Amino acid sequence: MIPVVDQRACIGCGKCEMLCPQVFRLINGVSNVVNPDACDECDCEAVVESCLPRAIAVYDDF
Ligand code: SF4
Repeated sequence: MIPVVDQRACIGCGKCEMLCPQVFRLINGVSNVVNPDACDECDCEAVVESCLPRAIAVYDDF
């Protein structure tokens, strides 16, 4: 799975980092995907659902 953050939509709430710190990190108040290869180790759907502005998308890794 490949996680992507729309940083224009991110409000910096930190939920993604809290749920999945190995993938997401807040830098200067916005979420960054710091390790997309770790995405398979967490519950991607829970992270996507937790993001109120729907700033996170997860794509299949082909
Ligand atoms: S959960 Fe969404 S709004 Fe909150 S920091 Fe992560 S990407 Fe940004």
